[in-house]
Amino acid sequence: MIAVHEIDRERFAHIPERVSGLVDLAYNLWWSWHPAAKMLFKQLNRQAWKESIHNPVKMLQHIPPEYLEAACADPGYLHRYDIIIDRFRRYMDSRVSWYGDAISGEQSSAIAYFSAEYGLQHSLPFFAGGLGFLAGDHLKECSDLGVPIIGVGFMYAQGYLDQDISTDGWQESIEELIDRDAAPITRVLGGDGSQVVVQVPLIDPPMYVAVWKVQVGRVPLFLLDTDIDRNRPEYRTISHRLYIGDREQRLRQEIVLGIGGWRVLRHLGIAVSAIHLNEGHPAFALLELIREAREAGMEREEAMKVVRNRTVFTTHSPVPAAIDTFPADLIEPYFRSYLRAVGMGNADFFALGERPGYRDEGFNMTAFALRATGHHNAVSQKHGSVARQMWRELWPEIPEDFVPIDSITNGVHLPTWLNARMERLYSKYTGGTCPYWKQEHDNPAVWALIDEIPDGELWEQHTWLKNKLFNRIKERKRMKWAEGLDDPLNLVAEGLMLDPTVLTLGFARRFSAYKRADLIFYDRERLKALLNNPLRPVQVVFAGKAHPDDTEGKRILQSIYRCAQDPSFGGRIAFLEDYGEQSAQYMVHGVDVWLNNPLPPWEACGTSGMKAAMTGVLNLSILDGWWIEGYNGRNGWAFGDHSPPVNRDAADAAAIYDLLEKEIVPLYYRRALDNIPHEWVAMMKASIKSIAPAFCSRRMVKEYVQRYYRHVLGTPP
Ligand SMILES: *Cc1c(COP(=O)(O)O)cnc(C)c1O
Repeated sequence: MIAVHEIDRERFAHIPERVSGLVDLAYNLWWSWHPAAKMLFKQLNRQAWKESIHNPVKMLQHIPPEYLEAACADPGYLHRYDIIIDRFRRYMDSRVSWYGDAISGEQSSAIAYFSAEYGLQHSLPFFAGGLGFLAGDHLKECSDLGVPIIGVGFMYAQGYLDQDISTDGWQESIEELIDRDAAPITRVLGGDGSQVVVQVPLIDPPMYVAVWKVQVGRVPLFLLDTDIDRNRPEYRTISHRLYIGDREQRLRQEIVLGIGGWRVLRHLGIAVSAIHLNEGHPAFALLELIREAREAGMEREEAMKVVRNRTVFTTHSPVPAAIDTFPADLIEPYFRSYLRAVGMGNADFFALGERPGYRDEGFNMTAFALRATGHHNAVSQKHGSVARQMWRELWPEIPEDFVPIDSITNGVHLPTWLNARMERLYSKYTGGTCPYWKQEHDNPAVWALIDEIPDGELWEQHTWLKNKLFNRIKERKRMKWAEGLDDPLNLVAEGLMLDPTVLTLGFARRFSAYKRADLIFYDRERLKALLNNPLRPVQVVFAGKAHPDDTEGKRILQSIYRCAQDPSFGGRIAFLEDYGEQSAQYMVHGVDVWLNNPLPPWEACGTSGMKAAMTGVLNLSILDGWWIEGYNGRNGWAFGDHSPPVNRDAADAAAIYDLLEKEIVPLYYRRALDNIPHEWVAMMKASIKSIAPAFCSRRMVKEYVQRYYRHVLGTPP
């Protein structure tokens, strides 16, 4: 059955015909990575745009008619509108793909991409951190390159968590529900005009999912929603929020995502040639493939072989919390009918999910995914060797170096993460000789032209972005204060005293213990001396959320927050509440140095430093994850490559202080008569041109296509 999933036009009946394309644009996230398209909404009315929190669907629903009339009477606006809409339609209709027409566009041979989270845009809170943004960037890049892919994920009504920090620095969650009708999602409708609802097959008792869709350029992303009347009360909450702590509810989430998700694609009549599992959460989808092969009459081993040929699994983290395991007595009742249908005994099933040496833990989703997929990869070269060691018992007959876990280093979607002003500056100096630089942004030769940018212009843009970050921080605090919602002490802790002329470090990511957000506080007196230096001060801006069940993460957050409130740190520490997609855009562009100091070897890759680097922010990072590949001695600072000392925290913290005292602070404050730190700017250029082409998702997606997808999709030229 082919479903229609259309925009409810009646809600937009007030939009004049002349600019009705704005509605189509609002429902396709394409606008979010095309600054000129974003401007079409913003120019209708800045205040309405701000009030909608940059959500054009919401904005268009509530916009007063006079703004639309004004736009329709403005030849300049209409001219820009026509150009953008034309560009959008040509993008959507284009059948061109980077690797040839044979496999472009047509859904006859799509890759199904499964992920528990997607970081796409502020108005869709379907992410917890880096994994989600990686998935979102993957879909955007596939859209740009014309790789036929279809996403499957969840419609999380409550998102991850909305963070509120109390005066004593403790993270609280506030309940905020997404308004499904004001979000850029559409109901997928069946033949009878009602929303498609699919039963998750063979699971006892039965579960149902309703289907929504987000359009990500040319790529559809289907979202599963269990909050419907047909479901039992305990099932309705399955899709409420990400990574529910309760094991049984988490198991149900993964059953819905994998088995339900596959069922939805089948129900919609979408032909899929292969599955790509982003982390282990959706791995139950593999059972559906096995079941279909068995139902087609294949023997067990043959069925497994066929399934392996069509499947890619990306493991994203060696951290235990990222690897789900379910006790046998929890999982068994749900799968009773299922295993009968697959023709698999209980023992065989549990053997597929057994991690050697960890049998008591039950069914391990990563072990299962590694056994049942044919192509597996880690997300950096270092993570590749960590993963091969970690999972070598699955291939006892193979030496560790030959364990079949490959690596493809993550990358970030450049049009999303490169700031628009910086992009204009780069275009000015690279565009002349290379008009297609944006299409070729994974080509290092294009980036060599960064050296042509005059130091003063690059520094001016950087300073502008820094001011933009600080203004935003202060404006948000001012508004909260004006609403009577904030304590004076929190205003100080959350950045009221930040000074744009001061060297600024940024640290923002999930607050998992291994990320060591508080490492820089290891020797408080040494840190205070750096911060409070009267001539060459330093300030540090933090942001991030701890998982609601992670008490250790919340404790770390609290300890930093208390320092931000403590006068002896001179007002030079700030903590930004409620880190998300929007604040990330400001943070990764607006600080001078991006700090990253996880405990090796737990950081599989890391991506926020890549986002920072492409806009000219310098990395100060431990040599783990991507930075081992990214650091070249001239494009930032590195530490921690020594063999693990007895007290690793002490050694790593000392390395950070040393670098700050001896290199980073002097370099930043060494100014010529024009007040420009030319040596610093030279490092910014070295960083931009070495990191942008190598760590963009264009390079990454091409690798996935060349190494895996093309085997099932066709052959590139
Ligand atoms: C990129 C990004 C992350 C990932 O950060 P890491 O440094 O890789 O941990 C987390 N959160 C947000 C909002 C991001 O944009």
